[in-house]
Amino acid sequence: MNSHDSEICTHAFEDGLEHHGAIAPPLYQTSLFRFADLESFSHAQLREREHFVYSRGLNPTVKLLEDKLAALERGEACKAFASGMGAIAATLFSLLRQGDHVVRVNQTYGPTVELLDQMTHYGIAHDGTSGRLENVIQTLRPDTRVIYIESPSSMRMEVTDLAAIAGLARERGIITVIDNTWATPLFQKPLTHGIDLSIHSLSKYLGGHSDVVGGAVIGERSLIDRLFACGHQLLGAALSPHSASLVLRGLRTLPLRMRQHQANGLAVADYLANHPLVEELHHPSQLRGAEADLVQRQLHGQSGLLSFRLSCPTYARTARFIDALRLFKIGVSWGGYESLAISPLRPDGSGQALIRLAIGLEDIEAILADLKRGFTAIGP
Ligand SMILES: *Cc1c(COP(=O)(O)O)cnc(C)c1O
Repeated sequence: MNSHDSEICTHAFEDGLEHHGAIAPPLYQTSLFRFADLESFSHAQLREREHFVYSRGLNPTVKLLEDKLAALERGEACKAFASGMGAIAATLFSLLRQGDHVVRVNQTYGPTVELLDQMTHYGIAHDGTSGRLENVIQTLRPDTRVIYIESPSSMRMEVTDLAAIAGLARERGIITVIDNTWATPLFQKPLTHGIDLSIHSLSKYLGGHSDVVGGAVIGERSLIDRLFACGHQLLGAALSPHSASLVLRGLRTLPLRMRQHQANGLAVADYLANHPLVEELHHPSQLRGAEADLVQRQLHGQSGLLSFRLSCPTYARTARFIDALRLFKIGVSWGGYESLAISPLRPDGSGQALIRLAIGLEDIEAILADLKRGFTAIGP
């Protein structure tokens, strides 16, 4: 964890004595901003990207968060959104035109695939592939405009070589986008590997307390300006100032929390790796060979989201395991203080036979004891 990042999460962009010296940044709960005369209004309205005119565009509380997120990702600019999906939708709408093709690398977040499926009605096609470079190259078409990556992905934690994909995309004039939610900007900085745009759901680790929904996109200023004009302003998924202030508060403890998520996640991964009832374990700490080298190169740390496959993973056994847990709550999302468990497996046996655990900030002994309870419930 780097001290520059800690500085960004705490003091950066708020060192002045404005706002009467308030140590907590004020919440600008306002929809519009007034002007002294028509000329200053006219000037601001022409450049809504830089001026406070209306909070669907720019708001000081939201802007402080955007400045911090851009700095954390080592990007030039950031735009915040009302949700991760708001950020993803605006990004895709601003980059794609009828006749364009998208290559998805690794397992893509389900609603993102659903959105791309919707976009096929507007003449935009997409195909998915694994993170292996030769597969990515094979999936490219002459009309491919965007390569959309998740690394690590959020169900099987697959990784891919970001610099290699960024390189081959650049040669072909393709824009690369990554959903960087798993790693947070503390543990992975995709722009430094040549990726064009990095997206986050702020609802996960960045918010960190399971009390806010938000999203953000970070990249070069020209791309973010285009995203602002074509996606953010028109689709209208603006982050509320109140939500921004909650995420700003989350950022204060992000380095501290990520250290604990990492330690707890690694301890759980170690425990599951050696468990006789676990058939497969998905966490970057478990990768070997070339993929382990990639993890070393790209990730500065590992978060606490992992998944595993039980031996004989029927729905009944999966349900018995999850229902026996007391500390782990059953619920979607992740990145809050609390440990969570879910499975995409459905009662009819369809869906991935995985149990996904979001390892929270609780005491590790209590977390491991709870998992033992789960295994005891399904027997030897
Ligand atoms: C949650 C999530 C999203 C969507 O974010 P929302 O804030 O829920 O809209 C996108 N990608 C990943 C990997 C996520 O986990």
